Amino acid sequence: MTKVGSKATDFKIGDIVGVGCMVESCLSCSACANDEEQYCKNTPTWTYGADTRHSLHGKNQVQTIGGYSDKFVVDHRFAVKFPFAKEDFESEGEFNEVLAKCAPLLCAGITMYSPCKKYIDVVKKVRDTQSLPSPQSLPSETPVKVGVRGLGGLGQMGIKILSTMNVEVFAISHSPNKEEEAKRIGANHFVLSSSVTAMNKLKRDHALDIILDTVGALPSEEDASPSTPEGGSPTSREDKRDKTPSPQEFYDVAADALATHGHYVLIGLNTKPVAITGTKFIWNDISLHGSLIGGVKQTKETVDFCWKHKIFPDVNIISVRDIPNVLQLLEKGNDSTKRYVIDASTFE
Ligand SMILES: [Zn+2]
Repeated sequence: MTKVGSKATDFKIGDIVGVGCMVESCLSCSACANDEEQYCKNTPTWTYGADTRHSLHGKNQVQTIGGYSDKFVVDHRFAVKFPFAKEDFESEGEFNEVLAKCAPLLCAGITMYSPCKKYIDVVKKVRDTQSLPSPQSLPSETPVKVGVRGLGGLGQMGIKILSTMNVEVFAISHSPNKEEEAKRIGANHFVLSSSVTAMNKLKRDHALDIILDTVGALPSEEDASPSTPEGGSPTSREDKRDKTPSPQEFYDVAADALATHGHYVLIGLNTKPVAITGTKFIWNDISLHGSLIGGVKQTKETVDFCWKHKIFPDVNIISVRDIPNVLQLLEKGNDSTKRYVIDASTFE
């Protein structure tokens, strides 16, 4: 923080702050009053590629250009303070490394923290209202079982956050070569989503309470991306014979993997219509939800939570000149699970 306005009493010069995905909202609708500015009835102003509209930054109809600059002016209500100071680090390099790891907490971090917290609480509340057959089988003692579909930047954050929340974590991916990585970062189980057999086994053996779907694509589109080694591993060839769920049946197969009162949460952006069969959801009281980042208050909570538990994304720091190459790589699928962080000091 290099300058602080007179009304921004929560900040002082020298504070380390970040800006998430929003820089403005109306601050007066029911969503804003509920600390959920991301669902502002009058549309929040996104940090990149949006037009300012709520007069918090002076002129409206000015396009936001994200953090691609060495200075950033933001309304204090949309700045997030990090719980450390530059002096806490031995060297500039160490400080910069931590900053790079903290940046994705304001996007991928909050995007996963918000639904993790919300739906685990919902599952526990429902369990608490159910009649308990005996003190030995208190349902709340059974860990909540949470599946995370997709192991890209969002999925890895989800698994890391969940691994500190005393729940059983299931990594669900169409790529068998991500199993080792999923377990390294905290997943208890790995399930191959491209296998109907594996998904059905999931239902039989576990029945998940929650599935957080970070993938915007359906199985056939995923398979079109060359994220498995050429020719596929023996496991993937075997699973092709097994059967890959078709895009039309994917959500039904997923709903079947959920326990009664289970929650399926759409997080990865999918803009295409999808097929679901009502009875698959009705028969088992399965709920279908969507979740978008989180409000500023919860973003602050995410940063504090991740700092306390030392949860950070794995990042690759790149220079501004690397961007075209990285975009090409990402188009082929993010198999490394890493987030790319652009070093702003390389801006010219
Ligand atoms: Zn609003």
